[in-house]
Order: sequence, then structure tokens, then C-alpha cells
Amino acid sequence: MSSISYYEILEVEKTATDAEIKRAYRKLAMKYHPDKNPEGTEKFKDISHAYETLSDPQKRAAYDRFGHGTPHMHNPFSGFGDFYDDNNGLDEDDIFDGFPFSGFGQRQAAQPAPEKLSIKMTLEDMFRGKRVRVKLTRSVPCKTCKGMGGKKNIMRTCIECSGTGAKTATRQVGPGLISQSRTKCNACNGTGKVIPEKHRCRKCKGERVVDEKDAVDLYMKPGTRDQDEITAKGKGDQKPGMPAGDLIFVIEQVPHSHLKRYDDHLVTEWEIDLADALCGFSRHLFVNIDGHALRVTHKGCLAPGNVLRLQGKGMPSKKTGKRGDMFIKLKIKFPDSSWKPDVQELRSLLPESKWKKFDEQERRKMETVAASSITEEALEGIVRANSQYKASGNDRNQEEFGDHFGYSSSDRYDARPPECQPQ
Ligand SMILES: [Zn+2]
Ligand SMILES: [Zn+2]
Repeated sequence: MSSISYYEILEVEKTATDAEIKRAYRKLAMKYHPDKNPEGTEKFKDISHAYETLSDPQKRAAYDRFGHGTPHMHNPFSGFGDFYDDNNGLDEDDIFDGFPFSGFGQRQAAQPAPEKLSIKMTLEDMFRGKRVRVKLTRSVPCKTCKGMGGKKNIMRTCIECSGTGAKTATRQVGPGLISQSRTKCNACNGTGKVIPEKHRCRKCKGERVVDEKDAVDLYMKPGTRDQDEITAKGKGDQKPGMPAGDLIFVIEQVPHSHLKRYDDHLVTEWEIDLADALCGFSRHLFVNIDGHALRVTHKGCLAPGNVLRLQGKGMPSKKTGKRGDMFIKLKIKFPDSSWKPDVQELRSLLPESKWKKFDEQERRKMETVAASSITEEALEGIVRANSQYKASGNDRNQEEFGDHFGYSSSDRYDARPPECQPQ
């Protein structure tokens, strides 16, 4: 990852605001989270690493100036132990009392940024509440060397950077033009000091931290919502000399097959028969989110667009336990064209028509048109085909009409009808 910048990893501009960086991180972290995407493990690590730096103003400023080094870098000088012979260089215990340094040339902030992890949950579990134990591996300071990476008194000033932790790189960018840039020293990872290879801690191989298996017990209360956060204090990675970071678990609701949630209300959809819509019903069985079978009844006529409301049959409130409502949107299933009822009898049962009845004489004055029926989808198809026809410039009448009056195409449809054209 050393060739790709943290900004490129998070897919943001160098000028991105903190909020933009946070948004980009959340989006990518969700996408590549190993729970969701087993192939995304490496990518997820890179994303988390980039975010850790860019979300911290001090680290970001240092990164902008000096670029990054990889945290568990390979020391290019390993194997050249002689350079770091015990007698070579000064004992700098006093200077490095504040060790360990992390990042570049500055002491680490007191509290590391929390790490976010998403955790999936079904709507049923959100209803009942759930306890889970999440197993995790976190890095903690090595106990063997107390996070020193080796014996404290054999730390040596890095000869690559003379202990400054940074190097000045010069590069010829044109004839007589030399560019100078300061980059973090790779030999000491920006700390300014190195441990000779033969004196490195065997447990952590000089990396100062080791992986430790841990587990977090989480309790998601009944009524937990999507994007709720649960903080596990001190369960994040810990660097030497720093408190452990927090882990924040972000709840992610698994989409439900037929229920949508709005706060503590639930919405679903039913198709009911025309007879039930007209006559009422008392037989609709429904297994609710709580696992109970409900027999839903309704008296009276239901029209298209009506919604049924079942009070207190939604999700519980996380605070009070009081349940929201269940709403059922209705789709009324009309009989198809094969239905041939006794229309006289049917009509006599239905409410009287509001349409005016015409007598024979009135009827003769009008043109009679027999209608055919199509679906709304068919109509949309016709409208779409027509708009494509216009867009391709084939609509000659409209063009000429518009040109003649000097109308722009946008106000053409407000123009007077063509028969008013002065000839
Ligand atoms: Zn160690
Ligand atoms: Zn160095």
C-alpha cells in the first residue's frame, strides 16, 4: 500500500473535509467489512489504517508533510547489524524517556480514535433483543519487552536520519531544478531510533505490539435500530504508552423479507380480494414480528389507497418498551376479464351510479365510442416511445410552429394553438 496514498485508499480529494473523510470511510468499511466480504480483509485493513491517520488532525498534518510508512515495516537495514553495534552511538536513554513515539516526530495523542465495526442484526432479533459474544484479535503492547521492542538500553540513534525520524530527499525535477522533500525515515519508522536486530524482543520481533485474542459481550436491547452504536470501551488496539482505543459496533439491519421499519412502526403490504375489500373480512392470518399469529378483521368497505393500522403491533421502543403500530398497505385484487357475473344483479347490490342518464334523443346527438382497456405500464410505454420520437427531432409540426413564432423550445408548449397562426 505504500505506493497508494491514504486519500486514494479512501477515494477522497486531498482537500476533503473531516466529514467527507468520515463518510467515505463508513461507506468503504461497510463494503469491505470481512463479515460481508471475505475477500475484503486486506482492503478493510488498509481503509481502517488510512482513516486512523486522516481522521486525526495532527496525524493528518504530519502525513501531508511527510507521507506514510507502513506500521509493521521491514527494516531495510536488518542484516547489517554491524551498523548498530552496541558500541556504536550514544546511550540515549534520557532523550528517549518519552518512548515510544508513534507517527512522526510527535507524541501520540492521549486517546486513540475509536474503531468502528459493523454488526448485522435481523429485525426479529431487534424485536426480542440479543446477546452476542464477538471474538476479536487486537494488538496490545508486548509484555515481554514492555512495549520497547527490545532492551531499552540498547536503543540506538538511527544513522539513516541521525535520530530526527525524517529524511530530506532531493530529486532533480528539471535542468538545474532540484526539489527537496522531507519524508519519514523508513529505517526507524520515524521514531529516530532503532534496535539492533540481535537485541530485538523475540516475542514481538521488535514491533512492540503482539496480537491478543479477546472477546466482547454485547447486549442489543429490544427495539435496537439500524445504525445504533454500542461502544466497547478499551477493546480496540493499544499502542505502547497509550490507553487502548474503543471499539464501536454499528448495528446494521438485515433487510426483512416483507416488513419495513420506520422508527418503531412497521409497514407491510397485502393483496386482498375485491370481495374482502367491499364486504370486510375476519379471516386474514398474519404472523407478526413477535411470532404471534394474528387474525386481522375489518368491517366495511376498503378503497384503493386505504391502509390498515394495527395499534401496538409494531416494534418496541428501546427506552420505554411501548410498541409502535403495524401498517398494512392494501392492493385490491380485481377480478380479471374472465369474470362474467350477473351484472344486473350485481349492479342492484352496488351503490347507485352518480352518472347522468341520457334519454334517447340526447344519445343520438353524441358519437358513441367503445373503449378498450390497457394497463398503466402499457400507457407509460406509449408515452416513452412518443418522447423519444420528439427528442430525435422528427416532430416537424412542432418545430415549424416554434420557429415561426420565434419561441424557444422550452416555452413552445405554452404557445397558442396552431390554428391561430396568422397566414
Ligand atoms: Zn516484545
Ligand atoms: Zn531513522
